[in-house]
Amino acid sequence: RAKDAGRGVFHAYEPALHVQAEERRVLEMALRQALENGELHLNYQPVVDAGTGNLKGFEALVRWNSPKFGNVSPAKFIPLAEESRLIKPIGEWVLRAACDEAAKWPGHVRVAVNVSPDQLQNANFVNVVASALANSGLSADRLELEVTESVFMHEGLGATKTLERVLDLGVKLSLDDFGTGYSSLGYLSRTRFSSIKIDRSFVQGAAKGVKEAIAIIRAVVALAQSLGMATTAEGVETEAEHKLVQELGCTKVQGYYFGRPLPVDEARALAGRRWDDVRAA
Ligand code: C2E
Ligand code: MG
Ligand code: MG
Ligand code: MG
Repeated sequence: RAKDAGRGVFHAYEPALHVQAEERRVLEMALRQALENGELHLNYQPVVDAGTGNLKGFEALVRWNSPKFGNVSPAKFIPLAEESRLIKPIGEWVLRAACDEAAKWPGHVRVAVNVSPDQLQNANFVNVVASALANSGLSADRLELEVTESVFMHEGLGATKTLERVLDLGVKLSLDDFGTGYSSLGYLSRTRFSSIKIDRSFVQGAAKGVKEAIAIIRAVVALAQSLGMATTAEGVETEAEHKLVQELGCTKVQGYYFGRPLPVDEARALAGRRWDDVRAA
């Protein structure tokens, strides 16, 4: 009897596991097609100067509109792409599309592009960046690459070397989601970051009065200042959060309070306008 019960339990679980794997396989196949079928596009979220409110640039964020699955979040399909080697062609497409678009904006408006650790494992990444810049005509200092701390967990496998070569092209580099990953401060002094992006969780915590979150933002701002780097507060949703991170010395801000990720034409229109006019409107 006990044996049967056990087997019953086993059988009850197996189909669920099977469906999960099957769903992944189907989603992965669809993602493989998505690039060819033109189902991917980019949205652009404003990044503004914390003090003046002027537009500094946009972060390119990939979107997948699947005819079969609808809108799939990048939080879901980017990890899938990373596990299935699809991140290489997708990452390259994102980079080229973002550079092509940014070349149409006024000269002071930058574009930030997220780069997965796997993309940096390939030494050819430098050529991809150089070619995206050459084809679009975008000057290197208007492109900012965003990497997370996880890149440095694979050290010794070439990511740092690739980053050095990319930096030699003149592009900017920022450290995304700072404080959420594996933290070793060594690479902060070894790598030429232009800015550190402080994760939304600290911004939210600080606004709720969490002492530790405030202390961490203060410390990161001080560290960045002494290393000659800017600090961007991520995920600023309210005026109160904006005031706070500004008081704490963050130099740039990004979040729903200033603008959601926008379709390409809306971002283009915004790029050409004065940001204070836009906020007054
Ligand atoms: P991320 O690079 O940290 O991007 C910021 C995420 O926070 C975006 O989510 C953005 O929509 C969201 N966000 C911005 N402001 C606010 C706010 O005020 N409140 C809240 N709640 N959220 C806000 P999204 O677009 O869903 O992207 C999620 C993550 O997927 C990104 O996090 C990034 O790690 C990854 N990702 C997106 N596009 C790409 C890409 O082209 N390549 C790679 N490798 N990763 C990408
Ligand atoms: Mg980012
Ligand atoms: Mg981020
Ligand atoms: Mg984040």
